[in-house]
Amino acid sequence: MAFPMAAPAALAAARLARAALADLWQALAASHRMAAPVACDGVFRFQETADLAAVRLDYNTTILPAKKFFYPPVETIFRFHRHRGALAPDEEACEARRPLALFGLHGCDVRALELLDQVYTGEFSDPAYARARAETFIVALSCLEPGPSCFCTSFRSGPFPESGFDLLLTDLGGHYLVEAGSARGAGLLQQLGAEPADSEDQLLKTHRLREAVARFRRHIPTEGLPRLLNQAFQHPVWQALKDQCLSCGTCTVVCPTCYCFNVWDKVNLDLETGERKMAWDSCQLLDFGQVALGQNFRRDRAARIKQRIYHKLNYFREQYGKFGCVGCGRCVEACVKHIDPVTIVAALKGV
Ligand code: SF4
Ligand code: SF4
Repeated sequence: MAFPMAAPAALAAARLARAALADLWQALAASHRMAAPVACDGVFRFQETADLAAVRLDYNTTILPAKKFFYPPVETIFRFHRHRGALAPDEEACEARRPLALFGLHGCDVRALELLDQVYTGEFSDPAYARARAETFIVALSCLEPGPSCFCTSFRSGPFPESGFDLLLTDLGGHYLVEAGSARGAGLLQQLGAEPADSEDQLLKTHRLREAVARFRRHIPTEGLPRLLNQAFQHPVWQALKDQCLSCGTCTVVCPTCYCFNVWDKVNLDLETGERKMAWDSCQLLDFGQVALGQNFRRDRAARIKQRIYHKLNYFREQYGKFGCVGCGRCVEACVKHIDPVTIVAALKGV
């Protein structure tokens, strides 16, 4: 498999002793809320933490992706009053607007945020999302131990990001290679006064990443994939999947690139005040396709599974020019029936 073994020339690169990671953390924490992978009940999750000692940079994947920080599962868009109209955000909302630093994001999750940016800051821009994303400092982390369900190399979204980060950390054993991907990342590196990296560090990084790529066991061949899908609309695999899928929607909840939501108004008992809410929705749920007069254009479960796979591997690409899957494997891990895009594509190809 052809795979680029080096990121585009970084704006700056430095060596950071393992003990000096705390200096980087402190420099960011001085002006940001810090969020990073931590272990919890035997799994990993991204969460806000002030404690670097709790951070697990040896994680493989988290249960929920980082989209929850920019597009929460449930949120209040605004509160309203019958006579005063929409009300200003309360203090809590203002506090939540403090900039965030995401620390230790893998390539797949960095790419996923770039894909969500195309949706939320494109033709119809969401100002709250756009502001939060612009303020967020991303410290990415080269992923050297892929999980058993990962297939990010299929889409070149891993094991390291090529763009979308301010700093990229690669663990070289005794120290980290830190590469800047933005002017503010380069500025922070300069502020830290770290020793510049040399060609040996870059060679070691290439070696480490080559080893990581060799560990991947799963792959979706993307060559000719849109054509394959265009010819597979009536393939028997969809009926077989219909008998397995429970329509629980878990696969879309954990997916870093799923972005469908529902909006409704909650009116308080005083009939004077209320709030407009927004929550994640799922194309795998029966009522997702329900429209006026109770009609449902995706009543058939096979049609709903097909929609998810086609959206990730065909429609998103038609609309935004990139595949809508980053190969993080979360949907595979979370599905109780182990429904898996890799095996679905293999079945369509007759492999
Ligand atoms: S594919 Fe799996 S996770 Fe997704 S709706 Fe079906 S059973 Fe649930
Ligand atoms: S479809 Fe599955 S593997 Fe692809 S990005 Fe979504 S959760 Fe990850």
